[in-house]
This record gives sequence, C-alpha cells and structure tokens, in this order.
Amino acid sequence: MIRINENYTKLKASYLFADIAKRVSAYVAANPAKPVIRLGIGDVTEPLPPVCVEALHAATDEMARRETFRGYGPEQGYAFLREAVVQHEFAPRGCEVEADEVFISDGSKCDCGNIQEIFSTDIRLAIPDPVYPVYVDTNVMAGRTGANVDGRYPGVTYLDSTPANGYVPAIPSTPADLIYLCFPNNPTGAVATKAQLEAWVAYARKHRAIILFDAAYESYIRDPAIPHSIYEIAGAREVAIEFRSYSKIAGFTGTRCAYTVVPKALKAWDSAGNEHSVHALWNRRHTTKFNGVAYPIQKAAAAIYTDAGKAQTKALTDFYLGNAKLIRAAVAKLGLKCVGGDNAPYIWVNTGRDSWEFFDLLLSKAQVVCTPGAGFGKCGEGHVRISAFNSRANVEEALARIAAALK
Ligand SMILES: *Cc1c(COP(=O)(O)O)cnc(C)c1O
Repeated sequence: MIRINENYTKLKASYLFADIAKRVSAYVAANPAKPVIRLGIGDVTEPLPPVCVEALHAATDEMARRETFRGYGPEQGYAFLREAVVQHEFAPRGCEVEADEVFISDGSKCDCGNIQEIFSTDIRLAIPDPVYPVYVDTNVMAGRTGANVDGRYPGVTYLDSTPANGYVPAIPSTPADLIYLCFPNNPTGAVATKAQLEAWVAYARKHRAIILFDAAYESYIRDPAIPHSIYEIAGAREVAIEFRSYSKIAGFTGTRCAYTVVPKALKAWDSAGNEHSVHALWNRRHTTKFNGVAYPIQKAAAAIYTDAGKAQTKALTDFYLGNAKLIRAAVAKLGLKCVGGDNAPYIWVNTGRDSWEFFDLLLSKAQVVCTPGAGFGKCGEGHVRISAFNSRANVEEALARIAAALK
C-alpha cells in the first residue's frame, strides 16, 4: 500500500483566492449589470516590452535553422545572461557577485520553494507574517513544522509585521537558522532601510544563519536610500541568498524567467560540524533536477539590459507606480492609513475592521475586488491589499466608485 507524505495533510488549505473568486462570482450572478474591477490580483496586466518580443522572435528564428539550433543549454543558464545580470544588476551597486554565482531558473516561486531542501529538516525557521505563502508551505511539506493550530504552525518563529513596527519585523530575541525576508514586500509594499538590513545581516552572522532575501519587487524601488540587494550590506555574501525575477520588472509572469544568487562564500554545516559550500549544494541540486530555461526566453530576459530595454522596463514599472500613487491618494482621502505603493506595486490598507468585511463592502458598494489581508497570515487581519497591476482606466474607474460609495 503506497503511503503519502503526511506532512501534506498538515497544510492549511489555501482558500483565499478560491474564496475571493466564489464571492465575486456570486455577486456578479446577482448583479449582472454591475461590472466588477479586480484590484486584487498579484499578476501583471501590461504586455511584454518590445525589446523582449523582438528578442523572442529572433531567437525563435535561430531555433528554426540547423546552423543556429540549440538543444540543452547549461542548467545554470547561458553565460550571456549570467554575465549581463552581474554587469547590470550588481556591479553598478557595488555588490560583489560573480557570474557563476547566478543560477537562472524558470521562476522565483520554484527557487524560494526548492531552496529549503538543501538544509536539514531540524533547522529553526523565521518567517514573516503576513507573507507570500510559498515560504511557509514548502517547509510544512518538508516536515519542519507541526500541524496548523489557529492559523499558525508550531516550529516557525513568526516575524510579525504590524502597524506598530511599520510592517518591518523586528529581529527575534531567539536564534533562527533560516530567515525569510522579502523587500519590497508582498503583500505590504513595505521596504527595509539599509540599517534594518544591516541588523539582519549582523543577526545572521552571529547565529551562523542564512537569510533568504526575496527581491522580486526590487525594480519598483524609487527611494535612492533603499537597498535593492542584500549584497549592498557588508558581510552579506557570507550569510545571504537572493532571489530575483523578471516577472514584475518585465511582465514575465507567463513567460517565466528568474535567477537566484548563491555566493561561494556561503557556508553551512553538517551534524559532525564540518563546513560545506552552499553554492556547491545548490549547484548539485539545480543541475540534477533542472534542465535550463528555454533559449529564446533567456534571450528575451537579456534584452532588458540593453539601453532600450532599460528604458522600457523603467516605463513599465513607472506606469504601475503611477497607478499606485493614485490608489494611495484615494485611500488617504477616505481617512484610512496605508503603507506601500511608493516603492512597490501594492498598497496595504489598515481598514480598522475585519478584512473580509471590508472586502465585502468594496465589492457590494463599489464593485471593486481587493485581497483580504487575513489570507496572508494572522497579522494581515484588519488589512486589505490593493494591487496597482491594472490599466489606468480601470484604476481610475475603481477609485471613482470607491470615493462615491464610501464618502
Ligand atoms: C511575484 C513574486 C515572485 C516571483 O515569482 P515568479 O515565480 O518568478 O513569477 C517571488 N516572490 C514574491 C513575493 C512574489 O510576489
């Protein structure tokens, strides 16, 4: 009799987006004349930058000809992309990253989820709340937690992001081995200052821990004082892995390309106390279980590092930030407190009431869909996430309706 991995039975079913869909379709069925605008999604809406489309076409033509056809590429990614990443993302910020420390993949979701398997099952975890669900759920699957109790898993140190700490969690008073951080944050849109990241790096160095730094929204940072990479912090090369994605900078959510930086200076230990290279472990894992991102996709990603590509991705992220600015102003006018939206495409609204109640209010009074914060964790209660990923016309219409309904 084949048996299952029972850790999967500990997972709290994620009803969030299914619940939202159910409530929205029920509303639409009862009110067919009132079109609904969705500001709840975490997916981009605008098409690929033209440089990416041109590169995709050209690379596809190469694949069509015997002389330029390519089969399997390097599992870690083509050198042209790994080198472009170093030259355009890290070197200009003074970050010491080498091309062979960059692992190209088909998404940060997979990388954030897969990375935990190179570490022991009995390590101590520190994970933010509210949070991108991948960090917690992949550790539950791996057996690092107990069964869910009241929305939380024993075995996880939760890093509370609350109005009191400006949604940037404090360093825990107890040691942790693996620390997940995401800045600019999804869902809160909060960013961490250089001093705050320095404190995390110092904590990780003190406890010989590793920080997993999810920088998926780095391209939305506009405040010049906010670090884009954990490697802007001295000493981070010995204690941090960084995840980057082309999903939010260049609309690659359906195209799929990302990368993970694993510095060769990063060490972890076995039970006998022997030191191991985390880079070597991840290289082994990646080359064993992954066979590389499609050549045309890597060419499309590399195209964003041309002058035209840089201008186009800047215009794209500026466009979403323009939406975010309108949303922030509208929320402020309603007299509600919020964070995010200035260096991130999400606005985290402190609604001062139950987050599903506020969701229902926006849906029924304004036909606008947001995401109830409770779906991202205990500390998300009382909040909703409004996404700036939409057309300008939809954002303006949604805000006009909200203003009229809630005034
Ligand atoms: C969108 C997002 C990513 C990127 O995931 P991909 O798999 O590269 O599309 C990573 N982390 C967070 C928190 C995100 O919101």
